[in-house]
Amino acid sequence: MNSNEIDIHKELKKYFGFGQFKGLQEQVIKSLLNKQNTFVIMPTGGGKSLCYQLPALVQEGTAIVVSPLIALMKNQVDAIRGLSSENGIAHVLNSSLTKTEITQVKKDITSGLTKLLYVAPESLTKEENVNFLKTVKISFVAIDEAHCISEWGHDFRPEYRNLKHIIKQLGDLPIIGLTATATPKVQEDILKNLDMCDATTFKASFNRPNLYYEVRTKTKNVESDIIRFIKQHKGKSGIIYCLSRKKVEAIAHVLQVNGISAVPYHAGLDAKTRARHQDMFLMEDVDVVVATIAFGMGIDKPDVRFVIHHDIPKSLESYYQETGRAGRDGGEGHCLAYYSYKDVEKLEKFMSGKPVAEQEIGFALLQEVVAYAETSMSRRKFLLHYFGEEFDSETGEGGDMDDNVRNPKVKIEAQDQVVKLLEIVRDTRHLYKSKEIVFTLIGRVNAVIKAHRTDVQPFFGSGTAFDEKYWMALLRQVLVAGYLTKDIETYGIVKITDKGLDFIKNPSSFMMSEDHEYNEAGDEAIVT
Ligand code: ADP
Repeated sequence: MNSNEIDIHKELKKYFGFGQFKGLQEQVIKSLLNKQNTFVIMPTGGGKSLCYQLPALVQEGTAIVVSPLIALMKNQVDAIRGLSSENGIAHVLNSSLTKTEITQVKKDITSGLTKLLYVAPESLTKEENVNFLKTVKISFVAIDEAHCISEWGHDFRPEYRNLKHIIKQLGDLPIIGLTATATPKVQEDILKNLDMCDATTFKASFNRPNLYYEVRTKTKNVESDIIRFIKQHKGKSGIIYCLSRKKVEAIAHVLQVNGISAVPYHAGLDAKTRARHQDMFLMEDVDVVVATIAFGMGIDKPDVRFVIHHDIPKSLESYYQETGRAGRDGGEGHCLAYYSYKDVEKLEKFMSGKPVAEQEIGFALLQEVVAYAETSMSRRKFLLHYFGEEFDSETGEGGDMDDNVRNPKVKIEAQDQVVKLLEIVRDTRHLYKSKEIVFTLIGRVNAVIKAHRTDVQPFFGSGTAFDEKYWMALLRQVLVAGYLTKDIETYGIVKITDKGLDFIKNPSSFMMSEDHEYNEAGDEAIVT
């Protein structure tokens, strides 16, 4: 059966009660029904689940849905069961099931009743399960949270690497991979590892025009600043993210004693307390949840009005995902992050115990967060560029919704400096990351530069008229403008693009904004 034979609009109404498809859903569903490998990149809340649920419900056989989170699988199974009178329509297969339950699951699959079978990747690797699945009719395989397959994603899970091998044993099945967080590098990794470079890719825009992005310097007054912010948003729902459980407890306490209804949420609390705090937030018995990243997965509260990052996150993927929980109803959503370089150093120190490759990736991802925090350009443009999307902050939707655009720094002409920078990247022949390029410009030596004898080149120190901070800011802006590109495979080696080579030949105006000064000690004391 292919998409032409099924009235998917009718099925949408019948199963889900929706009158219309959202975004790219219809095209995705048609692609999958036509047995094509399909790759879906949609931000959280974009409606990814329906992209495989509907094709599963209307086809013969059982669709296997691989998902890393047991709690989310349970939620989804309950939701699907709610659409039908048959409990057996959806099942989870995992190691916590009793023998009787497993027998029932197998019976329902064999009889053709089960349309969706949710499995964790580790259950799918079990030989006994694979042997069983070989004997039944499978419609397709959906790989949810597909970025888990990539070391460059924010949640790498080695078990995901075995999936392709197992799926092949089950036959020539169409695969649909879905993710909400895919930088170009992660996308490439997913397609390669699932061996589906032929997949039709559907990518929705990651722009969330109703979210306002702001970064503030984190000073010793950060707590009073947060309190003041929340009081300005009285009665509204918000989430505050902290990196440690201890911080979560401390901030929740400070808020409570300052008359703000807030509860903590982290993995160190017992399950009952966590569930209670989550419910209190959903039912609006409290305004604020102070949480570690443990909070938020699968939380679908539409009217979260602010997301505050007390500590900077480890990657822009996490930042995007966490801030994405604000304003899901399309209304106001203020995303405020506090930034201090000390926090960056803390995170780096924390990573230093990990294997070298993991460390390198961690540092590279963190550098992007630093660049985001320090930039003076449109934050939305910066974020979207990171996700491989071009955005024009003058004409694009939500273009004026960030602190940098609202309070722009003076722009200065940097045409000559851009040429100089591009020439250095070209003439050092793609050996260097940002740091060494800037060092070459300002004439500073380090071991890497010495090893290449760059310090005896005529161009060494040709940019001393400007300081390190200036060149670093310019380099970031030139990267976003597409004259340079960062090679992720080599952990951030900067290369010149064709557009950059062309700029050297035919230079034109380049207005750069100077980066903000971050002053750790400053800021007035706020009385609470
Ligand atoms: P994602 O997995 O991309 O984060 P979900 O699948 O959880 O998104 O869907 C987000 C929300 O959108 C859910 O509440 C879902 O019921 C709703 N939704 C999905 N498709 C449609 C549609 N066609 N019409 C209306 N609402 C939809």
